[in-house]
Amino acid sequence: MFTIKKYVVADSLEEAYKLNQSKKANILGGLLWMKMGHKTIQTAIDLSNLGLDKIEENDEYFEIGAMVRLRDLEVHEGLNKYFNNAIENCVKSIVGVQFRNCATIGGSIFSRFGFSDPLTCLLALDSYVKLYKGGVISMREFVNMPYDNDILEKVIIKKDNRKISYMSHRNISTDFPVLTCAVSKLGDKFAVAVGARPQKAVLVLDEENILSCDPTKDEIEKFADYVEGKLTFGSNMRASKDFRSHLCKVLVKRCINEVGGM
Ligand SMILES: Cc1cc2nc3c(=O)[nH]c(=O)nc-3n(C[C@H](O)[C@H](O)[C@H](O)COP(=O)(O)OP(=O)(O)OC[C@H]3O[C@@H](n4cnc5c(N)ncnc54)[C@H](O)[C@@H]3O)c2cc1C
Repeated sequence: MFTIKKYVVADSLEEAYKLNQSKKANILGGLLWMKMGHKTIQTAIDLSNLGLDKIEENDEYFEIGAMVRLRDLEVHEGLNKYFNNAIENCVKSIVGVQFRNCATIGGSIFSRFGFSDPLTCLLALDSYVKLYKGGVISMREFVNMPYDNDILEKVIIKKDNRKISYMSHRNISTDFPVLTCAVSKLGDKFAVAVGARPQKAVLVLDEENILSCDPTKDEIEKFADYVEGKLTFGSNMRASKDFRSHLCKVLVKRCINEVGGM
């Protein structure tokens, strides 16, 4: 259980940012992760009055406010139509519907959890975070940035006609993933993100041009070995390092087949 001494519903992002500069302040997302801890929070900052609970779409991109719930992403027709249901697939195994009706994309992405399903998926897309002070930063950069006291305002996903497939492996449905994998294909360029290794997601590009536009079975086999060789895997209570490295090849191959392989 955690303790909140003072609860503030922020009237502006500037107010929220100023309050959040204290080490004992915390931005509140859906509180699902925070409630697992035992912290005493001097000032809890609620962003729910700032209109950050919307998913907006224009010709160039989708803009997802930090307070959008994972369930909103799961059932959003536009996002799922554009990204081959990968957005639904990357959140649908997270605990249950009630949980996903509370957990926010802001809390999920700002935390950059090793096990994060949505972070893996977003890494394989042309996606960005908009931080209140830090501005727009690509997800590829943000994933490795140190934690600070900024506020994640929005997630932006560019509409670049990329095809994407997302898969994860879980020992039991709704448990944390053993491995997460997303493969995207833009023209003849493939990008692979693998997370829950158990470390956080990493992006691997086909720098050796192993895959052709319509990859053959041999090319896919070779590329899966290449991806596995580029990554490090670890063991934890869910799976061994060896199992994860085997699984990586399996999921990479399946995802490539879904976006346009054999
Ligand atoms: C039991 C359990 C099982 C889970 N299983 C999975 C799983 O299988 N796959 C998966 O991907 N995830 C999983 N998660 C993580 C979950 O999906 C959310 O990512 C997590 O709960 C954080 O989202 P939240 O909205 O609850 O954030 P909170 O708990 O409210 O906040 C988390 C952190 O982010 C900060 N924060 C929140 N919003 C912002 C913001 N806009 N700007 C800056 N900082 C912010 C908070 O200050 C806090 O430090 C699990 C979580 C739990 C508790």
